[in-house]
Amino acid sequence: MAMAFANENWNRHPLTAFSPSEGCAAWEPVDEEVSVTIDAPVYHDNAAKLELWSLFQAQTSPKCTVRSRGAGDVASVLAVAREHGCHFAILGGGTSPFKGASNAEGGITIDMGLLKNIELDPDSMEIAVGGGSLWADVYRFLDPRNLSATGTRNSLTGVVGSIIGGGISFFSQNHGWACDNVKQFEVVLANSSVVHASENENTDLFWALRGGGNNFGVVTSLTLEVFHQSPSYYTFQRWSMDILESVFDRFEALTLQMPPEIEMVATTLGWHVHTNQFVITERLIASEKPALPRTLPVPSSTQLKEIVESHVLDERIYQDTTLAMSEKMDRMNAAGFFNYFGSVTVKNNVKVFMAIADIFRDEVSSIKDTFGLQIYIVYNPLTVSTIEKMSRRGGNALGIRPGDGPLTIVNINLHWSDDGDTERMRSFMRRLRHRIRHVAASMDMLHPYLFQNHAFEEDDIFAGYGGENRDRLLRVRDAVDPDGVFARLQPGYYKLR
Ligand SMILES: Cc1cc2nc3c(=O)[nH]c(=O)nc-3n(C[C@H](O)[C@H](O)[C@H](O)COP(=O)(O)OP(=O)(O)OC[C@H]3O[C@@H](n4cnc5c(N)ncnc54)[C@H](O)[C@@H]3O)c2cc1C
Repeated sequence: MAMAFANENWNRHPLTAFSPSEGCAAWEPVDEEVSVTIDAPVYHDNAAKLELWSLFQAQTSPKCTVRSRGAGDVASVLAVAREHGCHFAILGGGTSPFKGASNAEGGITIDMGLLKNIELDPDSMEIAVGGGSLWADVYRFLDPRNLSATGTRNSLTGVVGSIIGGGISFFSQNHGWACDNVKQFEVVLANSSVVHASENENTDLFWALRGGGNNFGVVTSLTLEVFHQSPSYYTFQRWSMDILESVFDRFEALTLQMPPEIEMVATTLGWHVHTNQFVITERLIASEKPALPRTLPVPSSTQLKEIVESHVLDERIYQDTTLAMSEKMDRMNAAGFFNYFGSVTVKNNVKVFMAIADIFRDEVSSIKDTFGLQIYIVYNPLTVSTIEKMSRRGGNALGIRPGDGPLTIVNINLHWSDDGDTERMRSFMRRLRHRIRHVAASMDMLHPYLFQNHAFEEDDIFAGYGGENRDRLLRVRDAVDPDGVFARLQPGYYKLR
C-alpha cells in the first residue's frame, strides 16, 4: 500500500509513492493503502530542503516536504495527517537547533517558506506578514521606510518561530519582546479550521500563542506593530579580562537604569579558540551615539596594579540599518555545525554573574580540544521596563512579572563539527546548566523562567512559566486541539505536559 502527495501541475519531481508503515505513519501505523493528492508543491526527496542552520536539522530526512501556499494547503495536509496518523513538523526559518524541531524525520515537513508576503498599513502602523517570513524579509521591507519591528537580533530566524517563544529584539527596552507586538494571528487549528486570534477574538488562544510554542496550531499570517526607526548606533567593545567584574558591574547598573538612548546591551563571555583565551565583549544598540567608557574602575579583587591607559582592547562603532545590524550578528553564528543552546534566568547581580563566569571558565577547560568548537555565553538584560510591556493586550504566557525584575537571561551557545563529539557536548551542557542553576539558587538569585528560544532541548520550559500559566496553556490546548493532534503527531520541539 502506498501513500502519495502530489500536485499534478508540479512536474519538477515525479510523484513518488511510499508506504505509510515505513514513513509517514511510523508514529501510528496504518495498514490500508492510501493515495492522496493535494494541490500543493510536494517533494519526496531533499530538493526542497533549505540549508538548515544546524546539522541536527539539516541531517533530518522527511518522507516528503509540502510547500504551503496558504491556510488552505496547511488545512489539507493536517487533514491527511489526522486521517492517516502521519507525523509532521512545521518548518519556519528552520533555526531551531535540535533534531525534529521543525523537520520531521520520516514524516511530513510543512515548509512555510513560500508565505512571505508583507503589507504595510501606514495609518495603523502595522504590517501583515506571511507565516513563513524571516526577520530579514521584514527588515528589508521596513528599513527603507525608516520603520522597524521587534524582531530577533539575527536576520535568518523565522518571525513566527521566534514569536511563539517570546522573542528578544534590538528594540525590546522601548518596545517589549517580539510576542508583545503582535496584534493578530491567523491560525490553522488541528481540525483544519482557520481562525483569528487577537485581543478581541479567541483571546485565550492569542495569549497562548505569545510564548506557548508550537502546541496550538499553524500560524499562516500575523499582524505586527511597527514604529519609526532611523539607523541605529551599533557598538562593539572588547575588554581586558582583568576587569571582568567591572564589566559586569557596569552591566548590572545599565540593566537597573538604562540610559534613554540605549536600546540594547548584550555582554558576551567566550572562549576564543584561535588565540586560546577567554574574551569579554559588549554590544550596545543606541538611538544616539553613546558615550563609551575606555576604562572601568579596577576591582579590588584583581592583581592589576599598573595604571592602564585603556581597558578596551578593541572598539568599533557603526551606524546601521536593522538588517545590517542583524547580519553582523549572523556572522557570530555560522551555519553548518552541530549546535546546543541553553538558557538560565538569574537576578541582576554582579556576584551571580561572576559565579556563572567562574563555572563557565572551569567547564570550558574540559572541552577545549573539541574539533570545530565555538562556545560562549551572552548576558541579556530583562529590564523592568521591558517586563512591563509584557502585560500589553492581555499579557503573554511567559509568567514574568514586573516585580520579578530586573532579570538577566544567560544564553549558552555551543557548536562543534564532529557528530562523534555529540555525547560529550551533551554531558558538558548538562553539567554547565546544572552548576549554574545550583550556584544561582544557593545565592537566592535563580529565577524559574526559561527562555524557550534559547533553551536546551531537555528543559521543561513550561515548568518555568509557573503552575498557573502552564495549567492555562494546557486548558487552551485542550480546547483548540481536543484530540491532541499537535501533541501526538507533531512530536518535535517543546511539548506541554
Ligand atoms: C543565530 C541565531 C540567533 C538568534 N537570535 C535570537 C534573538 O536575538 N532573539 C530571540 O528571541 N531568539 C533568537 N534566536 C532563537 C530563535 O528565535 C529560535 O530558535 C526560534 O525558535 C527560531 O524560529 P525559526 O522559525 O527560525 O525556526 P524553526 O525551527 O523553523 O521553528 C521553531 C519552532 O517554531 C515552529 N514554527 C515555526 N513557524 C511556525 C508557524 N508558522 N506556525 C506554527 N509553528 C511554527 C516550528 O515548528 C518549530 O517547532 C536565534 C537563533 C539563532 C540560530
